[in-house]
Amino acid sequence: MTETFVFPANNESAEKCAEMIKNGGLVAIPTETVYGLGANGLDEEAVLKIFLAKGRPQDNPLILHLADADEIEKYCCDVPETAKKLAQHFWPGPLTMVLKAKDIVPKCTTAGLDTVAVRCPDCDVTRKLISLAGVPVAAPSANTSGRPSPTSAAHVIEDMTGKIEAIIDNGPCTVGVESTIIDLSGDKPRLLRPGGLPLEDIEAIIGDVVKDKAVKGEVKDDEIVRAPGMKYRHYAPKAPVTVVTGKPEDTGRYILENCGANTGIICFDEYAHMFDDCTVKCLGKVADSGEHARRIFEILRAFDGTDVIKIIAQCPEDKGLDSAVVNRLKKAAGFTVIKV
Ligand code: AMP
Ligand code: MG
Repeated sequence: MTETFVFPANNESAEKCAEMIKNGGLVAIPTETVYGLGANGLDEEAVLKIFLAKGRPQDNPLILHLADADEIEKYCCDVPETAKKLAQHFWPGPLTMVLKAKDIVPKCTTAGLDTVAVRCPDCDVTRKLISLAGVPVAAPSANTSGRPSPTSAAHVIEDMTGKIEAIIDNGPCTVGVESTIIDLSGDKPRLLRPGGLPLEDIEAIIGDVVKDKAVKGEVKDDEIVRAPGMKYRHYAPKAPVTVVTGKPEDTGRYILENCGANTGIICFDEYAHMFDDCTVKCLGKVADSGEHARRIFEILRAFDGTDVIKIIAQCPEDKGLDSAVVNRLKKAAGFTVIKV
């Protein structure tokens, strides 16, 4: 067991944690998306510790977190103009780009791929830490693999106490879902994961982006995909989840007809009054996608401490920031979706 310190988000903590990272340790870092589990991304031994602490399959690659867009060229080659444009518009921010990797990036960071994912997080204390450490910080979400991602220090404490050296507590994450991942290493830009930056914003800068079939939930267990991590069941609470898509008034009615004792319900604020007898968690108002994103993981986690045996969720419309929320809900449900 390692003693896990919880530090406030300030320069002194950034300095202490930069030392820990330089020495091969693991530190949970706040970002605007979710909390990350960081290690020196150039140090194979340190990176291996991430996989162990999370129980993460080793064919699931990690994202390198950079302090600044200028650092792209240190770790990536053949960087296309589209990547430079996107970095200019959206970094620091919730956008990850997959680019051709330079040899300096170890294979355990990229899960053996010849590409590497890079991002510059919009969080001052974390960018300070990265620049003080002087190395890119490899970081997946700081949860046990398969569990909902952590959007507060308390979630990280739940999963990682005793396994990592420190957590920097910067309060709740302002975006609440992981970054949008765009693969720019092939012929056409390809969306690998919807996330905190709406696809529509990206297309406004670089034109049409192809949606990978993993985004749509069409990948089979034994299939080889561009990002191996995309095939795993993710974000799941202990009770099985069913996602109901359609107009809110229709999904609300369907859920009312199909809920019973010990049903957990995820619904919009406007519909909460309909489910008096159930354990209800509210996503926010129908139109408030920012709130849906900030709440989704907290909600999925919250059912684990209750007597709920099944969960039914009212699904937002698949557009803008809500596309990320829809994707996380469907993954939590293992793509058990009912269309009404
Ligand atoms: P997370 O699982 O939240 O840590 O985010 C990491 C995800 O980024 C992985 O599961 C992959 O889907 C994606 N990713 C990271 N590196 C690459 C890469 N080189 N090529 C494609 N996808 C990647
Ligand atoms: Mg994750």
